[in-house]
Amino acid sequence: NETLFPYPLNYNQVDWSSHYPKKFGKDPLKLYLNTLEYPITYDDQVKPEYSESIVDFLDIGCGFGGLCFALSENYPDKYTFGMEIRGKVVNFVGEKIRALRDEGQAHDVSVIRTNTMRHLPQYFRKNSLEKIFICFPDPHFKKKNFRRRIVNPGLLSEYAYLLKPSGRIYCITDVEELHNWHVQHLEKHKMFKRVQDVEQDSAAKLIWNSTEEGQKVERNKGSKFIIVCEKV
Ligand code: SAM
Repeated sequence: NETLFPYPLNYNQVDWSSHYPKKFGKDPLKLYLNTLEYPITYDDQVKPEYSESIVDFLDIGCGFGGLCFALSENYPDKYTFGMEIRGKVVNFVGEKIRALRDEGQAHDVSVIRTNTMRHLPQYFRKNSLEKIFICFPDPHFKKKNFRRRIVNPGLLSEYAYLLKPSGRIYCITDVEELHNWHVQHLEKHKMFKRVQDVEQDSAAKLIWNSTEEGQKVERNKGSKFIIVCEKV
């Protein structure tokens, strides 16, 4: 069933050496994407040195991966992980990673097919991530679908739990109504404090135009709204 895909029971089953093989001396051109074409199995606890999380930046709903590649270029010492639910899109990002790795780049970027609304704490440890990016998420306009929004009070607590102290969350959208929702829930949340001098944050500049959706909004001369918060 194409809508079903495996997930780890807990982060001890996640083998980061298959996602960032160069760091661990493995074949950098072999892909593990958790898609039909590039499956992963999560049945055993992997070696502790492979399961210790090395991810710094998480891109939730990464789509075609523009931000992941931009982060890789701009932050050479950081490990970026994209999560995306659509199998074909994940395969596309995977193939791009392989092509770049063949040229000696993108060893610090990886991607996986998963539903981030369900499985994040099975991949990452408490206080482990430096930045979480949520770029142009689906707006889910109808009130009955608000619970499907990727920013909601319960998930914000989860994001805060996974971020390091002073770690940052970035939300950008072209939908003003959704931005107001982001602001409302982030400003209300006890674990987050809004960053005022967003211009000083180089990652905030990067998300403006590096995602495919952001570029589309730019071409259509649409507005963009951003909020950055720090974990307190
Ligand atoms: N961030 C990308 C960009 O700015 O170009 C993609 C934006 S697109 C409008 C939203 C993406 O989130 C889609 O690719 C969608 O498949 C993905 N998505 C939606 N719900 C998701 C979920 N629960 N887990 C993982 N990805 C999800």
